[in-house]
Amino acid sequence: IRESLPATRQVETICPYCGVGCGVRLGVRQERIVRVEGVRENPVSRGELCVKGRFGLDFVHSPERLATPLVRKENIGRLAKPPDPRQAFREAGWEEALELTANALQGLIHEYGSDCLGVLSSAKCTNEDNYVTQKFARAVLKTNNVDHCARLCHASTVTAALAAFGDGAMSNSISDFEKADVILVIGSNTTECHPVIGRRIKRAVQEKGAKLLVADPRAVELSDQAELFLNHLPGTDVALLNGLMNRIVELKLHNRRFIARRCENYEAFAESLAGYTPEVTEATTGVPAEKIQRAARILGKAKRLVVAYGMGITQHVTGTDNVKAVANLLMLTGNMGRLGCGFAPLRGQNNVQGACDMGALPNVYPGYQRVDNPEVKAKFELAWGAILSDRPGLTLTEMIKAAHTGSLKGLYIVGENPMLSEADLNHAQEAMARLGFIAVQDIFLTETAALADVVFPSACFAEKEGSFTNTERRIQKVNRALNPPGQAREDWRILSDLAALLGRPFAFANSAEIMDEIASLTPIYGGISHDRLGLRGLQWPCWNRRHKGSAMLHKGRFTRGRGRFHVVHDRPPAELPSAEYPLLLTTGRILEHWHTGSMTHRSRVLETLAPESRIEINPQDAAELGVTEGDTLSIKSRRGQVRSKARTSRRVRPGQTFMAFHWQDAPANSLTNPSVDPVANIPEYKVASVKAVLDVLD
Ligand code: SF4
Repeated sequence: IRESLPATRQVETICPYCGVGCGVRLGVRQERIVRVEGVRENPVSRGELCVKGRFGLDFVHSPERLATPLVRKENIGRLAKPPDPRQAFREAGWEEALELTANALQGLIHEYGSDCLGVLSSAKCTNEDNYVTQKFARAVLKTNNVDHCARLCHASTVTAALAAFGDGAMSNSISDFEKADVILVIGSNTTECHPVIGRRIKRAVQEKGAKLLVADPRAVELSDQAELFLNHLPGTDVALLNGLMNRIVELKLHNRRFIARRCENYEAFAESLAGYTPEVTEATTGVPAEKIQRAARILGKAKRLVVAYGMGITQHVTGTDNVKAVANLLMLTGNMGRLGCGFAPLRGQNNVQGACDMGALPNVYPGYQRVDNPEVKAKFELAWGAILSDRPGLTLTEMIKAAHTGSLKGLYIVGENPMLSEADLNHAQEAMARLGFIAVQDIFLTETAALADVVFPSACFAEKEGSFTNTERRIQKVNRALNPPGQAREDWRILSDLAALLGRPFAFANSAEIMDEIASLTPIYGGISHDRLGLRGLQWPCWNRRHKGSAMLHKGRFTRGRGRFHVVHDRPPAELPSAEYPLLLTTGRILEHWHTGSMTHRSRVLETLAPESRIEINPQDAAELGVTEGDTLSIKSRRGQVRSKARTSRRVRPGQTFMAFHWQDAPANSLTNPSVDPVANIPEYKVASVKAVLDVLD
């Protein structure tokens, strides 16, 4: 956004893209954003923004924004694909759309019971929206079938970190990267997916002398700057981490004092490392034994080690084990509970941490309070005046399966787009088609909204009051700069309207009151209120109104008491290349686009910079296939087929390919494997086997 007229007012708020949570100052003139700049006072970004935050906010004014409720036309089926998806709908008034939805939900509950419904909340929405969404599912629809896209990105972080440490979140703060003397980045393309943290890591290396180790199956930008680049094979993270820890123990570089005083289950864990010698680890991971020895020495001797990771660790059938191995490494070396150290899962979307904190998960209320704990249940029943279920609900991936088998009958979706983000899209689309009723709240007619029976137009981040919680647990104030287009409403208001029609009205006059209720029921948010957030926010846990928040977790004592070592062993991915599907596909994101692209594809600058999908392929494979840069490839897996232009690149090794999943016309998730981690239910987006041929139609 760079318009010539000066702004007449300025509003500080938070970038709506990634989990870094940079502060943005919106210059507004006559209900239009005319300027965007970074907020220097913001402790996370200190005035910096990446290309998405700086130039990617014009989606707010897209002519494609939804401005009135839409109802599916009676003669157009869910899978009909009219040239313009809007042709499947007619405009409706709020009253009609809400009543239609309330009647449909009530009818399904009457016939099949509450658990025939599922609710998807959104990591793009505010904490207040997420709180109201899960309250709507639990207190109004009477089901714990509520989840959101953390299931597809960091569900394994939550399960593993809760088991190891007692909190499913980053242990320290983003500023700790610049205090570390060693940083290990594993399975994270940080400069593209969390660019402002990527810059901090580069500064730590270039200006503060930190040593950087990068472990990744694909050569990412940070690997060019690393002291050591461990280019392990996809799906061998546990083997690599166990191999490193085997050496650390052999070299007696483990922190015996820390382990004895603060941890449990060390003996069984240490024994489990015996088989992971450098030679065995080299054979499994492809990383030379000599590099493993050198990396182990650097990690073992680090005084302050941060381990940062992203979805390269979490999106595997071994995702929970991978994260447990990261936790083991940090405890083994005593790098928890001090400045400049710690466990740094880089959360994906702007408010995925907050959506988890708010209990948009099937097994916990806000603040990770279990739904099957009788005392917790009684507390929420009293506060909400409703009888609640103590049965944990379905995860997102289980909801899709249940829709396919017919036990799930209806879905209420707030701002999520599973029709581009689910693994094995064709199966997911079939499942959605079988549902009796779908309602979607969104700012655009996304691929998912296009399947709905009713679509409600909602306000975007620039039109909302509320808060987002970033990857370092910092709750930051989101401020309204504009009015929503047409009749669009804030997400929590739409749900409140529906709750009232269903006979259980919520008493919130504004989002500040929602945060007050959150604080009253969620101990880790106990001291949070909108008036305390200012330009710096507060990091949870923040126990009461006098508490200043917590820059660090696990100081002196882990949240669960003792940190627990877990025994984890190398297991192969669910699907490996075969004679028929000889290439390994891994999926991810690129700098210019975000998630399913519903916002970034409507940004002029971002769309100009990255207008189309590319599949990265090693020049050796390209030569064998007779493919040159820019040729169109047809890529096929056991589940589907897509076409994409080729980019030849040595960033992927021979036999490996990479695709981003941002494009509706080249949906990488038509190819991905829906096999899930058995604990966290997260699909294995990072490993699928495919074949590629030059597309003769091109
Ligand atoms: Fe927005 Fe993330 Fe970029 Fe910051 S780094 S401007 S939060 S996309």
